[in-house]
Amino acid sequence: MFDEIIENQKNDMIDSVCKLIRFKSVSVETENPEIPFGEECKNALEYTLNLAKKLGFRTKNLDGYCGYVEFGEGEEMVGMIGHLDVVPAQMADGWTTPPFEATIRENKIYGRGSIDDKGPVIASLYAMKAILDSGVPLNKRVRLILGLNEEKAWKCINHYKDIGEETPTIGFSPDADFPCIYAEKGILSIRLHHPFSIKNEDILNIDCKNNALNVVPKYCSITLKNNKSGVISKLEFHGTSAHAAHPDLGDNAITKLVKNLNSTLDKNCTEHEFTFLSQLYQLGVFDITSPQFLSNSPVEDESGVLTSNVGFLGFENHVLEIGLNLRVPVNTSLAEIKEKYHKLTDIFPDLEVTFPAEQAPLYVPKDSQLVKTLTEIFHQKTGLNADAIAIGGGTYARAFPNCVAFGANMPGQKDMCHQVDEFINLDTFILSAKIYAEAIFRLATMD
Ligand SMILES: [Zn+2]
Repeated sequence: MFDEIIENQKNDMIDSVCKLIRFKSVSVETENPEIPFGEECKNALEYTLNLAKKLGFRTKNLDGYCGYVEFGEGEEMVGMIGHLDVVPAQMADGWTTPPFEATIRENKIYGRGSIDDKGPVIASLYAMKAILDSGVPLNKRVRLILGLNEEKAWKCINHYKDIGEETPTIGFSPDADFPCIYAEKGILSIRLHHPFSIKNEDILNIDCKNNALNVVPKYCSITLKNNKSGVISKLEFHGTSAHAAHPDLGDNAITKLVKNLNSTLDKNCTEHEFTFLSQLYQLGVFDITSPQFLSNSPVEDESGVLTSNVGFLGFENHVLEIGLNLRVPVNTSLAEIKEKYHKLTDIFPDLEVTFPAEQAPLYVPKDSQLVKTLTEIFHQKTGLNADAIAIGGGTYARAFPNCVAFGANMPGQKDMCHQVDEFINLDTFILSAKIYAEAIFRLATMD
C-alpha cells in the first residue's frame, strides 16, 4: 500500500538526502547555548525540520540539542531515533569525490552520513509521509527524533530526557543493521592506576597517541633512559585498529608492548612496580575474551562472550594508567564485573580502579512482539530469511526501553559506516523507506 507512494516520491527522497549530506554536521560542543553542537549541526536540523513541515508534519526544535517530527493522534507513541551528526571526513583520507558533496554514481549516493545516519533518517521521514498520504488510520502517534551528538556523547538524547520529553511506547532506531538487533552487550570502561617503575631505567614516556578506549590501538611506544649509561631507547609497537566490540579483528599494539616488556625485562626485578604489570598479564587482564581472572569458565551467553580491549596506556608522575573497554554479555550484571575488577586491589593495595563510563545492555527477547514483527516485515519486503542478531556494539536504540536497532545496512553488505567513500545504495535507500513505512504502520496499529 505504501510502496507505490514511496516509488512516486523517489526523486524527492534522493534530492533531500543529497541536500542533507551537504551540511558538514560534525558535532562540536560549543559554549554558545544557541548552537550547542555548532553551526553546521544547527543548519542540518533546521533543514530537516523545515522539510518535514513542508511535508505536512508537526516539528519541534529542542533548544538546538535535538528535534522531532511528529504526526497522528493518540496516547501512545511509536518512536524512531536517528541522528544528523556525522564523523569527520576529508579528501585527504582517500575519498574519490568530496565527502560533503553527495555524488551519485553506480546507483549509489556517496557522501559522509549517507548510511550513518542521514540516508536512513530521510527514508524514515518519507516512510512517515507515505503513511500520512495514504490516509490509513493509526492508533498511536508517530515521532522521528533527530539527535545531533550521537557520534560523541549522546548529549542530544540526554537533553531530550532531561527536559522531560516523552518516552516512546515502542520503537526502533534506523541506525545500524537489518534485520534487527535484539541484544547489545553492556559496555564498561575501566581505568587502572598504579605506581610504576622499571629497574635500571627511567621511563621518559609511554605514548599510545591518546587512543580512544573503544578502539583497538594500532600504535604504542615506550621511551626509556638507562640510569647507568644514560642511553635513551624507544621501543615502538604497531598493530591494527578495530572496533573494541571486535578486539579479535584487530592487533593490539599496547598488548604487544606489555608482552615485550614482560619477556625482555629483568625477571629478578625486586621492585614491586614492574612485577605489577607482569602479574596483571599473568592474571589475564590483557586477554581479549573473558579474562581468566574473572571466571574459570568463559563469561558468555546468547549475546556472545565477554570481550575486553586495552585501549589506553600512559605514564605520568611515576604512575601507570591502563584503560580498558569491556563488552559484557546481556545476562551478566555490570556490577558483578565491576566488583571483580575492584577485587584486584586485594592483590595490589596501591591500585586505583575507576569506572569512567558504562552503558547497561539492551535486550528485547527474540520472541517479543517488537522483534518478531520487525524481522517478519524484513522477510516479507526482501525475501531474505535473516534472524535477529546480537552485537557487542552500542546503537542508538539503547536510548529508550522497548526499542531496537532496525536497518538500514543490509545483511551481508559491507558496513560503510564511518568509512572512506561511505555510500548508500539507491535500491537499499528506497527499500528501507518501504520497510520503515510497513514497520511504523504495524507498530502504530498494534494493541
Ligand atoms: Zn549512527
